[in-house]
Amino acid sequence: MEIGKFSFGTGDRFEHQGEAQLRAIQKATDKGIPVTPVWNKSNREHNIVHSEPVGTRREADAAVAALGWKGEYLVDADHINLGNVDRFIAVSDFFTLDVAIYINRPAPAESVIAFKQSCSGFGGQVTIPGIGEPIVITEALLDTVASKYLAAIQEAGKIYRHIESVKGTGNFVTEISMDEVEAPQTPVDMFFILKMIADLGIPAQTIAPKFTGRFNKGVDYVGDVAQFSKEFEQDVLVIDYAVKTFGLPENLKLSVHSGSDKFTIYPVMAEIIRKYDKGLHIKTAGTTWLEEVIGLAAAGGEALDAAKEIYTKALGRKEELCAPYADVIDIDDSKLPTPEEVAAWDSARFANTLRHIPDHPDYNPNFRQLIHVGYKIAAEMEERFTNLLKQHKDIIGQCVEENIYDRHLKRLFNL
Ligand SMILES: [Zn+2]
Repeated sequence: MEIGKFSFGTGDRFEHQGEAQLRAIQKATDKGIPVTPVWNKSNREHNIVHSEPVGTRREADAAVAALGWKGEYLVDADHINLGNVDRFIAVSDFFTLDVAIYINRPAPAESVIAFKQSCSGFGGQVTIPGIGEPIVITEALLDTVASKYLAAIQEAGKIYRHIESVKGTGNFVTEISMDEVEAPQTPVDMFFILKMIADLGIPAQTIAPKFTGRFNKGVDYVGDVAQFSKEFEQDVLVIDYAVKTFGLPENLKLSVHSGSDKFTIYPVMAEIIRKYDKGLHIKTAGTTWLEEVIGLAAAGGEALDAAKEIYTKALGRKEELCAPYADVIDIDDSKLPTPEEVAAWDSARFANTLRHIPDHPDYNPNFRQLIHVGYKIAAEMEERFTNLLKQHKDIIGQCVEENIYDRHLKRLFNL
């Protein structure tokens, strides 16, 4: 099973928007950019919403059937590890092996020695075509990368082989992710990580490093765009070299766990992948949930009341809701509106505050981040919330489709 050149991961916490999401992807495909839809949902999201991975599979299958989608589509067991992957194996065909917590753990001494010996073939330095500075191979560098990453990639190997033993070789797509950490991985790190992945025989098709800068949930990129651009380009070149030299799958590409809505860097990535004719996987989550709240607000009446209640309750439980996302949330409390202010808002004011149009005078990224982590409140509203989703399916579906197509895919693929 091979993932297409361009793929777009959409999360859907409540599993009602599959068709709207697929309509957006269909539009890009109709314009000549074939994009593989991937429905991703992490173990953490399933636990918070009390859903099971089979729900994501059913949603994807139903959307594909309803729209008569003929292309490839995948269901991503997002951010899984050996402890929870079994819950996903039967119904998923894309697995994001999250080995971030194994970074900096010691690997067995003999495997460190073997890794270092296997690097002796590089000689004193490696020149990656397109990158001016060669990688100078020293004992100290090899020790550093082995102590940082070898145990993590060994863990990825264990998870991969476990899935393979159940699903069979070649029957799923493998991604390795290390994005949920504080320190970014440099292109030099990427070079050695790919070497380790190849040595362990893991046929990774996508790799998700931690890039430089902040990837906060639901809001734009915060960081040095020039530095991001330089590292992203070098990563693309390192991957190209690694594919040719280490024998990794030819379609191996970067996966950007965007935390959704990194609009500033979309054109940067777009230009680089076009320049080198490379593929890309973008993973979003939460952006669809936010459109559900926007759609409810726009619908007015009870639905607007429910949207306001989600905000007010989220504000009261901010610490609890933000805790699982501590590394990827930056809320300035002083810029959050009070419940009394929000109570007085009409549909347009609520929707404009939440909708990600950065130059809109009402847009408030602090408000948006808080709602982003507030989906637990909606989950607790149970049927009251899901009934509203059903009742306002059309208006919400329009919001979801417009968001993914107009704000994401158009920017990414120059549509
Ligand atoms: Zn991630």
